Amino acid sequence: MTNPSLLILPGDGIGPEVMAEVRKIIDWFGAKRGLAFDVSEDLVGGAAYDAHGTPLHDDTMARAQEVDAVLLGAVGGPKYDALDFSVKPERGLLRLRKEMDLFSNLRPAQCFDALADFSSLKKEVVAGLDIMIVRELTSGVYFGEPRGIFREGNERVGINTQRYTESEIARVARSAFDLAMKRGKKLCSMEKANVMESGILWREVVTEVGREYPEVELSHMYADAGAMQLTRWPKQFDVIVTDNLFGDLLSDLAAMLTGSLGMLPSASLGAPMANGRPKALYEPVHGSAPDIAGHGKANPIACILSFAMALRYSFDLGEEAVRLETAIERVLADGLRTADLMGPEGGSPVSTSGMGDAILAALDDSL
Ligand code: NAD
Repeated sequence: MTNPSLLILPGDGIGPEVMAEVRKIIDWFGAKRGLAFDVSEDLVGGAAYDAHGTPLHDDTMARAQEVDAVLLGAVGGPKYDALDFSVKPERGLLRLRKEMDLFSNLRPAQCFDALADFSSLKKEVVAGLDIMIVRELTSGVYFGEPRGIFREGNERVGINTQRYTESEIARVARSAFDLAMKRGKKLCSMEKANVMESGILWREVVTEVGREYPEVELSHMYADAGAMQLTRWPKQFDVIVTDNLFGDLLSDLAAMLTGSLGMLPSASLGAPMANGRPKALYEPVHGSAPDIAGHGKANPIACILSFAMALRYSFDLGEEAVRLETAIERVLADGLRTADLMGPEGGSPVSTSGMGDAILAALDDSL
């Protein structure tokens, strides 16, 4: 049997710094858990533009389509701000998402107890929080036609169209139900069926797909009420599935319940490949952080947690993902903090590699 394959695209700014820590973790799983990955590395974003004049080389795109999972750091930076739109670093990431047809975006909101004070909400509301928002990523109002700014009589009108086909709703619903089966078997679907026809269809199709998953407890909520409930008592949720627009807002809201940008991983999944694994891209939510790049200050945890998501969702290694998440929890509970996690009282932060090494030591202790 061949090893599972991973394509690593560190990208720009702090991307290579945080990815170096992920490489150490991947090597640890190979050496200590017998989980060898066939790892290749390539360029994306500004780094690819510098080397090839394009933010994603065709060969890299082709490799991304072949591997079991892609792990990306971050792209962009001031050096590339003046580039033509067609070759901006972000276009590399968008091309990956589009050509891999990654329609299901997974954004966890997980609050490590040691960081509960970081939230803008009360500690008891967020401590131990662990929910997942599944956002439809490739359709809806960001893509629907007609769109544009048109002239109507003597004024202009801006138009965007919310459009969803049954199959687009069904495939993201299925991905959310599959996820719920791997977690707490509870799924809440959010739309605005009270005022939008696309919301009525969304609710009907999710309900139909739900019949294939009798073990999952399905509920429906209007998205505005969902936003309220997320801030009132987020622990009532396990998995939430919603459309592109509402998911954009709700996933940012939920993510920020838990504190720092340096802690937030994400996954984008597509259709299953021949081997049954979904096409998958894992990446931290944060960008290339040019303000701290090159200073060893970046928090590598968001990127390391993205690899934990890959273990769970691409490689069915949920227990190993828990091992890694527990090691991170241990290190934080021991008081280790990168600069972004220092409270107003200050203290002495650890470097990017210091955090990575501490997580490796906690992994060793887990054996
Ligand atoms: P950013 O996420 O890069 O940074 C926002 C703030 O958070 C900065 O103060 C930064 O220092 C801090 N921060 C981010 N990640 C951190 C980490 N791991 N550890 C510690 N601190 C961290 O967002 P920005 O400043 O708006 O954008 C910078 C560049 O990144 C831009 O070129 C933007 O286009 C790009 N960007 C890329 C992605 C991506 O690759 N997915 C996402 C967002 C922004």
